[in-house]
Amino acid sequence: TKNMHFFSRNKYVKNRETWETFGLRGKQAMEFAALDLPILPGFIIDASVTAHLDHQDDMKRYLKNYIGKCESDTGKRFGDKENPLLVKVVISPNLAIVSYPTLHNFGLTDDTIPGFNQFVGEDFGYHEVLFLIKGYLQVEEKIAQLEERQKDAEKITSLIENLQKGMEKNDKAEKFKSLMEEYRRYLPEDFFSDAYTQLEIVLKSISKMLAIDELDDEDAALIVQPMVYGNYGKNSASGEFFTRNIVTGDKKLEGWFEQNRFNSIESEGKEIAKIEKPIFAELEKVAGIVEDHFKEIRSIRFTVENGKVWLIDQRPLMSKSVQADVKTLLDLYARKIISREELITAFKPDQLNEILHPVIDVKSTKSMERIDGGIAGAPGAAIGRIYFSTETLLDAYKSAQQKGEDTRLILCMPATFAEDVKAIEVSTGVLSAEGGYSAHASVVARQYGKVSLVNFDLKFRGKKKAQIGKVDLNEGDLVTLNVPHYGEPTIFLGEAQLIEPDPKQSGLLDFIDVVKKDVAAFHVRVNADKPRDAELARTFGAEGIGLCRTEHMFFQEERINVFREMIMSDNREERLKVLKKLKKMQQSDFYQIFKAMEGKEVTIRLLDAPLHEFLPHNDEQMKAFLDYLKTSGGKSMSQREVRERCDALAEFNPMLGHRGCRIAVSYPEIYEMQMEAIFEAAYKLISEGKKVAPEIMIPLIMNHNELKLIIYGKKIEGNTYRGLAQVEEQVRERLGAKPVDYKFGTMIELPVAALGAGEIARYAQFFSFGTNDLTQTTIGLSRDDYTSFMPDYTLFDILSGNPFQILDEHVKELISIAVRRGTLTRPGLTKGLCGEHGAVPSNIAFCMDAGLDYVSCSVYSVPIALLAVAQQNI
Ligand code: PEP
Ligand code: MG
Repeated sequence: TKNMHFFSRNKYVKNRETWETFGLRGKQAMEFAALDLPILPGFIIDASVTAHLDHQDDMKRYLKNYIGKCESDTGKRFGDKENPLLVKVVISPNLAIVSYPTLHNFGLTDDTIPGFNQFVGEDFGYHEVLFLIKGYLQVEEKIAQLEERQKDAEKITSLIENLQKGMEKNDKAEKFKSLMEEYRRYLPEDFFSDAYTQLEIVLKSISKMLAIDELDDEDAALIVQPMVYGNYGKNSASGEFFTRNIVTGDKKLEGWFEQNRFNSIESEGKEIAKIEKPIFAELEKVAGIVEDHFKEIRSIRFTVENGKVWLIDQRPLMSKSVQADVKTLLDLYARKIISREELITAFKPDQLNEILHPVIDVKSTKSMERIDGGIAGAPGAAIGRIYFSTETLLDAYKSAQQKGEDTRLILCMPATFAEDVKAIEVSTGVLSAEGGYSAHASVVARQYGKVSLVNFDLKFRGKKKAQIGKVDLNEGDLVTLNVPHYGEPTIFLGEAQLIEPDPKQSGLLDFIDVVKKDVAAFHVRVNADKPRDAELARTFGAEGIGLCRTEHMFFQEERINVFREMIMSDNREERLKVLKKLKKMQQSDFYQIFKAMEGKEVTIRLLDAPLHEFLPHNDEQMKAFLDYLKTSGGKSMSQREVRERCDALAEFNPMLGHRGCRIAVSYPEIYEMQMEAIFEAAYKLISEGKKVAPEIMIPLIMNHNELKLIIYGKKIEGNTYRGLAQVEEQVRERLGAKPVDYKFGTMIELPVAALGAGEIARYAQFFSFGTNDLTQTTIGLSRDDYTSFMPDYTLFDILSGNPFQILDEHVKELISIAVRRGTLTRPGLTKGLCGEHGAVPSNIAFCMDAGLDYVSCSVYSVPIALLAVAQQNI
């Protein structure tokens, strides 16, 4: 008997090493018993003997001993004519991949069947007898298969099939009974004569099966446990529940129960909350103990027999929401059951995406048509009608608004550009044929918290039709984009149900509060150019703005034409006139952004736009621009003149062309205007008693001379270049303000700048690594076009990952060099990273190692980056 082990509530094998021979289910039973829960008693025959029971002579004696212990717990007797105890045999292997059927209802014999039927009714009773026979035959079938007795195996298979058919019919007792009689001849003669004999026969069969099954690594144990029935008399029920809501995480049992189930046909059951109060209270207590022990939501099966609750088993859940996990763990943390470390390391940072964006309710997509493919530009789920141009989308948006109709729209284009941002802004998502993670559609979508699915198989057929995958769709058709962070994106045709995020309700804000306790020296900032984003980022815990892309401030419809007018200016005088208009807009933007950031650093990047990006791209834009010019009061231009100016501005290689600080070298008045706008806003706030911390960032620097010129100015042969430091001074003097602490710094986004960092740091108080451009220029891979040939590169293992997502080794090397050379010149140099790489945990780990002070990322990535930082600090 040293190989048999009894367990029941609070009685279990104390030496946990022994549990190794109990198989997975056996271990679980022991764990349950140790938790002092109302578990069904039972005993385990451990793995060391399960394959040798065949040779056991006095087995009955042992069985009697152990079954006796179960009898006293359940108040029934094995083989009793009136109220018989029945048992099941569970095969418990150590490998999760091996699965055997559970065998039920042993103890049903010619003597005990009538007594059993008294409690459950004859229909159910005889049905259970057939179930018992089926279990036994399945073992015999397996043995025949393993012994390669083909004929026998086939015969048993057809017997089982026949039996199954009979069981599935919602028949009455007589039919079931006659099937039982028919099957007697296929069973050992004394199968129904005596309960112990029956159990012994079955255990020996199972033992034989395990002995010859090669899958079995001699590790399978057997568990013998009483059966309880949820239809056993009046106060009986059975059911299953989750310890809390698996979608919302609310601490409320979710599940069902049923009573009086007298046949095998599954019924829906009633809500668990409707079960009798004392039972519900007991189940709630059980749920609490199970959650506290396993530190997660679990699913629990139970049976109530004659008013007594028995737990059948519990198991972990395959699918539950991140929100449910966050709330469960926050609850456990608040009650000191888990530590802060356990809470913080429980999630992969990317998992938070799920509570930052709406998610698809998968149940709702079961019968929907789907098309898989594409690359996740910005993960999440979006529903909307598809529109194939910014113009048609905006029209549809306006008209839906006016009519009070559904305004959810999805922009669907070959690729997107600056003028499409206004459509993305009002859309729920973007779908594009081209592009990758750092393409325009993806960057902008992430910034606005929209979903983006790029590189999708899209073919446009005229203006109003497109083929998406193999499906033809019209403009205005409703689709659902499902873009998970992991796994393949999907487009569902039609409308799926969404679950909307709510940072307070979801537990996200509470979670961030805990996470921030492990974020100290190394900060997370946000890439934001809108007051709304700045505010949201503050609630998410951002410690400042690391990148305010000022060119994004001109994307709005009423501004882009003013900006175009500025680009079209022929000379300084003309330009200055338009800049005055732009300055007003910028000033109010900066005022609001500074205000939202409450004195935290705000890094404002002066204009960095390839000019062609802002030019009219089609007839409609051209018309809108010409219309604007008529009323602008500025110079008038004909369509031909505009075209000529566009041609003159066109570049072969705009990303390496007249952009970044190069614009400021040619047209200093643009940065001067921005500088004035920044400091007028800053001094206004200061006069209102607010704090501001501006950081002026010059983009696309190749050497220190650019920086020196732009900041400090120069006089040469009668030409004067007014430096930005002087502009600030003049604003301050004009306003009669006391000087505010502010910094000049630069982006390091060209290899030459990284290498020249030592010189550059003489003029820069901070560096911000623009890894989008730095990657593009280091690898020589266009950030906008690389996706067309990237699959070939991945296929042949030329590049291991997407360098626009995961920092390339040599880009890292350049960053490290720049950090070293920069700090050698200026020990107090502040260093950050603001490319799209900033939210990826592995990149963050590198940045922390390399001695950077912060990463800056899009607003919805801030919580993810914070968690990654905290995990590094632990
Ligand atoms: C960069 O190049 O990494 C960067 C942040 O600037 P942008 O993406 O605006 O070029
Ligand atoms: Mg850049």
